[in-house]
Amino acid sequence: MSNFTSTINLKADQCVKCGLCLPHCPTYRLFQDENESPRGRISLIQALANQQISASDKLNKHLAHCLGCRNCERVCPSGVDYGYLLDQSRQLLRQQVPVTGLKKHLNQTGLKLTHNKNIQKYLQTLLHYYQKTGLQKILRISGLLKYLRLNQFDNLLPPILPYQDFKPNYPSDIPSKGRLGLFVGCTGNLFDQPTLQKTIRLLQRLGYDVVVPEQQTCCGALHQHQGQLESARSLAMQNIQTFTDLDTIIYIASGCGAQLHDYSNLPWSDEKTAEQANLFAKRVKEITAFLSNEELSSFQFTPLAKHVAIHTPCSMRNNLRQADASMALLKHIPELQITSIPAETGCCGAAGSYMLSQPKLASVIRQTTLDAIEHLTVDIVSTTNIGCGLHINAGLNNKTHYSHPVSLLVNQIIF
Ligand code: SF4
Ligand code: SF4
Repeated sequence: MSNFTSTINLKADQCVKCGLCLPHCPTYRLFQDENESPRGRISLIQALANQQISASDKLNKHLAHCLGCRNCERVCPSGVDYGYLLDQSRQLLRQQVPVTGLKKHLNQTGLKLTHNKNIQKYLQTLLHYYQKTGLQKILRISGLLKYLRLNQFDNLLPPILPYQDFKPNYPSDIPSKGRLGLFVGCTGNLFDQPTLQKTIRLLQRLGYDVVVPEQQTCCGALHQHQGQLESARSLAMQNIQTFTDLDTIIYIASGCGAQLHDYSNLPWSDEKTAEQANLFAKRVKEITAFLSNEELSSFQFTPLAKHVAIHTPCSMRNNLRQADASMALLKHIPELQITSIPAETGCCGAAGSYMLSQPKLASVIRQTTLDAIEHLTVDIVSTTNIGCGLHINAGLNNKTHYSHPVSLLVNQIIF
């Protein structure tokens, strides 16, 4: 038995089959099928690793349906490392049934997009003109997007701004308290550049020099969750080396952040790199958590007489296991009514690339969150994960919109 198989067996054997995780699993709640539950999937993964079963359409389907939300992991009394088992199963499946043809091509293009700056630049420019010239409206009305099955992707698009390079350095407005690195992330860069720009502006105002290293790359989360562990490790290495001289590295998307923190758990081949990864993981900080330790009450805020609902992403709740600091942050805005979307609503269905790879399921799973939002009758939904924001936004009525909490906060500051 290989080391790899022994580790899977060791971790899978921790599951005592108690079933306490089942009611917390969105796919089990939906299908009421043991194979769509965490317990069932653990058994399938173990059987796959021990070659008792092999890759089949049925097995692929049950594992592909898993959102990787890790809700099961949070409630598990035995501490089963479900995230590890899921990632390894996807690697095993890739080895047994290599992806081929058009699917392989689309997969590779999608993953290249996450770390190739030129492709990102062209895509952003293309999407900007697609919206600005009115082509989006024409294609939507014509029904062509639906016919080409591109409507799911199109619905996710926020207004896309023209591509803009970040400067490598943004000096503090006042005598500097220190240097901070900013991790921009591929999704944040493409779909939520305003929040990144506002984050920089706020940090400068608070007395920090903000460094945005050009060599930084995608966090590698999508690669890891698709079983491409080598690519995930290579992207992690590039980020570790790029941010080497910065004591604190800020990120705005908790999905990326979960992966950045997880660099310390990747299987590194030597102790020196493992130690570097460990140090890197200790230096990364989520923006709202960072701001909760800053003095913001000296700022003047314009009142905002609106009602906002805070959505806490699974990456924050289940991976990072940190309290959502958005509430404390948004309380600085006068007249803003703040509510939290109840934790029981669970995953919103975005789950990284899940909203694209499993659009129908993602939209069914999202409904619980949308119902909770409708029940709260709010004007704004705020979340620290851009992927959740886009996915929820695509299902909201026209009266409610999405905003990152930092964006909401900075909009009200009188600079
Ligand atoms: S994963 Fe944990 S909670 Fe779920 S059945 Fe196994 S031991 Fe119980
Ligand atoms: S990660 Fe989420 S969807 Fe997957 S088994 Fe666990 S709770 Fe269910």
